[in-house]
Amino acid sequence: MTIKDLLIIGDGFSAAVALVHLLRQGIDSQSISILGKRTLGRGNAYDCVSPAFRLNVREDLPIIFSEDPLHFARWAKEHINDPQAKTSAGYFYRRSDFGAYMSQLVHHQLSGRAINQIQGEAQRITGSEGQWRVELNTGERIVAKAIILATGNATPTWPCTQRVEETSNHLTLTENPWLGDYIHRIPAKDSVLLLGGGLTALDAINGLVEQGHEGKVFVISPRAIFPPSQASWTRTKEPEWPNPMNPARLVRFMRHYLPNTPSDQSEWQCAWEELRPDLNLIWQGFNPHQRRILIKRFGWLWNLYRFRASPQTIAAYHQLRDLQQIEFRCGRANQIAVRDGAIHVTLSEGEVVRGQHLINCTGVARDPLLDQMTHTIANPDALKHSIEIDSQLAVLDQNGRAYQSLWMIGPATMGSLGDVIAASAIAKQAEQLAKSIRLNWMVNYHV
Ligand SMILES: Cc1cc2nc3c(=O)[nH]c(=O)nc-3n(C[C@H](O)[C@H](O)[C@H](O)COP(=O)(O)OP(=O)(O)OC[C@H]3O[C@@H](n4cnc5c(N)ncnc54)[C@H](O)[C@@H]3O)c2cc1C
Repeated sequence: MTIKDLLIIGDGFSAAVALVHLLRQGIDSQSISILGKRTLGRGNAYDCVSPAFRLNVREDLPIIFSEDPLHFARWAKEHINDPQAKTSAGYFYRRSDFGAYMSQLVHHQLSGRAINQIQGEAQRITGSEGQWRVELNTGERIVAKAIILATGNATPTWPCTQRVEETSNHLTLTENPWLGDYIHRIPAKDSVLLLGGGLTALDAINGLVEQGHEGKVFVISPRAIFPPSQASWTRTKEPEWPNPMNPARLVRFMRHYLPNTPSDQSEWQCAWEELRPDLNLIWQGFNPHQRRILIKRFGWLWNLYRFRASPQTIAAYHQLRDLQQIEFRCGRANQIAVRDGAIHVTLSEGEVVRGQHLINCTGVARDPLLDQMTHTIANPDALKHSIEIDSQLAVLDQNGRAYQSLWMIGPATMGSLGDVIAASAIAKQAEQLAKSIRLNWMVNYHV
């Protein structure tokens, strides 16, 4: 069995941006291996085939290099031909084009050197410092001196039971909608059920409108509200946060700081974005109980406003709304059944919503690899969705001590570090980690 020096588990944006920063720090490409099944750099977010799926941030916000924040904006101007990207709030490019940018960054940084890409999925990690054993779904085993976990957003799974009593080409159920390959299979006059009311549902709406959908769209969601459209915003002030801080004070302060205007207005979004840069440090100062309370009470509001949508996508929703083609059905799905020529979704209050195509827009599932690690070599994080890490991105062992050769970056670090979902926040983590690996780890492991 060969021993890998540094194994990155995952092959999406986080893995690619980690690779780019490791190479920039002078780490030998021969010592890095990447484990995954897809094209490096695209992952769940940027591997989509639908041209209707757009970035939800304007062109200057996906920052990959801290010293050159407008790198993507310049690249996009030069390489992307997308007249529809321009809006009054900035340019909102297609996610597939951002995926192409990431592929190009990797290609450029490797400049002809090969990278060891291993096809497969890690199912289990055991071992100890400097000697990690990784079992793959293919039956292969890998030993690695160090690991960066970059497994990202676990692929969506149905949130309730399904009973399929009959199958028919006229009825489709899409469990993982992130690729967007389901949209062209929906005939224009058919009725569509969207399970969930966040950005994935808005992606579906944009896709349907772009292909001229004429049928009804039902959105099944606990609340009849979509995230607002991105407006043009800039940061001009720095908030003076209360000290000491606790969750109640945080919420009170934010309420007072935000103007009494609709959330899709520039004024509101300027204030919101002035608050955001400090929130991760504030979050890290709260204990696990305080974090759980905050998410339980205000998580839905946070998700609503933090994830604003591209103006193109919201315009598509408004078009359906004005034509009275779209309706909310408030509640949570309890059961999905396919019978009598239709898909039936039974809600918790007993209401049944019927349609011909059901799209699961309920978001990320649990990550089985992180779940396995929770029971063996790591601790659950405060939100119990992932494993606990420290501010240096090191995974903590079951006694709360930081490993020196096991790190994690990307969305799964949220419970420990706060809002680390956007591309720029992940790129910052990758830059920080690459620097610390160069400084400390190379000395210990002679990479
Ligand atoms: C649909 C969607 C749209 C988004 N849109 C935006 C946006 O517009 N702007 C923005 O800033 N952010 C967006 N995000 C946020 C997104 O989390 C980040 O931008 C970033 O793409 C996350 O990258 P990742 O590599 O950590 O995760 P992912 O994109 O989820 O990629 C993880 C990869 O690792 C692989 N993998 C997982 N587990 C294993 C394993 N055990 N073994 C081997 N491989 C594994 C997966 O197959 C996948 O290819 C979006 C997220 C999603 C899901």
